[in-house]
Amino acid sequence: MIKSNMQKITVAKGDGIGPEIMNATLEILKAAQARIEFEEVEIGEKVYLSGNTSGIEKSAWDSIRRNKVFLKAPITTPQGGGYKSLNVTMRKALGLYANIRPCKSFHPFIATKHPDMDVVIIRENEEDLYAGIEHQQTDEVVQCLKLISRPGCEKIIRYAFEYAKLYKRKKVSCFVKDNIMKQTDGLFHKVFREIAVEYPDIEADVWIIDIAAARLADTPEIFEVIVTSNLYGDVVSDIAAQISGSVGLAGSANIGEACAMFEAIHGSAPTIAGQNVANPSGLLKAAIMMLNHIGQQDVAETIKNAWLCTIEEGIHTADIYKEGISKELVSTSAFAAAVISRLGLKPKSLKVAEYEKGVRLNLPKYQRKPSTSKVLKGIDVFVDWKGTEVNKLAEHLEKLNSDIRLTMITNRGVKVWPDGFEETFCTDHWRCRFEVSNGKPADKSSIPVLLAQALQDNLDVIKTENLYEFDGVKGYSLGQGQ
Ligand code: NAD
Repeated sequence: MIKSNMQKITVAKGDGIGPEIMNATLEILKAAQARIEFEEVEIGEKVYLSGNTSGIEKSAWDSIRRNKVFLKAPITTPQGGGYKSLNVTMRKALGLYANIRPCKSFHPFIATKHPDMDVVIIRENEEDLYAGIEHQQTDEVVQCLKLISRPGCEKIIRYAFEYAKLYKRKKVSCFVKDNIMKQTDGLFHKVFREIAVEYPDIEADVWIIDIAAARLADTPEIFEVIVTSNLYGDVVSDIAAQISGSVGLAGSANIGEACAMFEAIHGSAPTIAGQNVANPSGLLKAAIMMLNHIGQQDVAETIKNAWLCTIEEGIHTADIYKEGISKELVSTSAFAAAVISRLGLKPKSLKVAEYEKGVRLNLPKYQRKPSTSKVLKGIDVFVDWKGTEVNKLAEHLEKLNSDIRLTMITNRGVKVWPDGFEETFCTDHWRCRFEVSNGKPADKSSIPVLLAQALQDNLDVIKTENLYEFDGVKGYSLGQGQ
């Protein structure tokens, strides 16, 4: 029986340094009298190697879905094909759409070139290139689908603004690459602008990801809250954690509407596993985020302040130990003991942690927007063709008899017909665009007619994409050079 004020959570000790840093974290949680009961599950390498390619048994899923809160140590994904990343599976299967990664420096107690950095990265966690939809289409070309949805954008961007409001941050910065990806990153940017106006007290700015990542590495103090899509978020949060002092310092929360998972941002560090040298701080910080999430701000504060005391007294694990700054080099378990012995103390130099009680982010459920008017204007037909003279392919395609006509051929996105350049390198993967010529909507039945003729003509069609206008706006990109 769980006592009424106790919360049951699921715990996995993981692989590599996982068990060491989890044991250290659980000892600290118990010593701080966190009102938690732990239910341990096995996930990761052992489960993978037992023949389960997902790395997780049904009983572990049941525990996580029952308890709704999961504290997870890093796991090792075995090398070689056939094993799906369990982290990605869990984030997506449980709908954990928001990944929150605070990265702060603890100058002058942990060596860093960035004494004033205090940035929170809010990374979209379910879609983008991580949809994992990949195909080989020709001998020479493979593709990965980048899926960005309006609900995905709205949920993560609102999360970022609500987070900034709750934690009194003044600015939210959006990182995109919409100068190139006008549909996908363009949607993220557009939704950011729409939602930003609902928060007039919070400054909002938009950065192109390349210069944004450079500025984050150089002058992180100019950022407060960063919101970005899955892949960019993955890259920039490792940069931010590393330049704050060590990847071993940062924790993360994966938040969904029903469940939440808390973990260190780093991996299972197999080269230092079993040596009692790893820094447990990343997982401990994740546990502090978990305590805040389940309404135990008092315990979160006590542990965070004890951790700050330990750090400012120079009691450091090897990854952050530096002559002249650190006082004592300690093991994983000795670091945990040092934190435990400081429970109840407050730091003297570093800012004392104070977490507001009883507060929650205000996150309305996504409401589907009214449908737009969606009009078919043509089709992109992708063809595997080993020829080199594109005019020959065009001649072939122009003969297909349908009310949509060939208007353009591109190769890897570059227009090669009509009026292409001889210099353009071409692979065996051709995108052939057919459009209505009279500006009227295309008849959907013209598509199977076109494809049946292409088939008869021995054209190797590998995929198609319909071309639509939504409320009169083109929902597809032009060819490069068009
Ligand atoms: P890693 O994060 O495990 O290690 C990178 C570097 O940081 C190594 O030098 C390591 O020794 C050091 N390091 C990491 N955590 C540390 C800590 N707490 N204290 C001190 N030093 C620390 O990344 P990797 O080597 O690329 O991956 C190793 C394994 O971890 C792989 O199997 C990978 O799939 C897995 N991984 C798991 C997760 C997760 O479970 N969330 C995340 C990333 C990688």
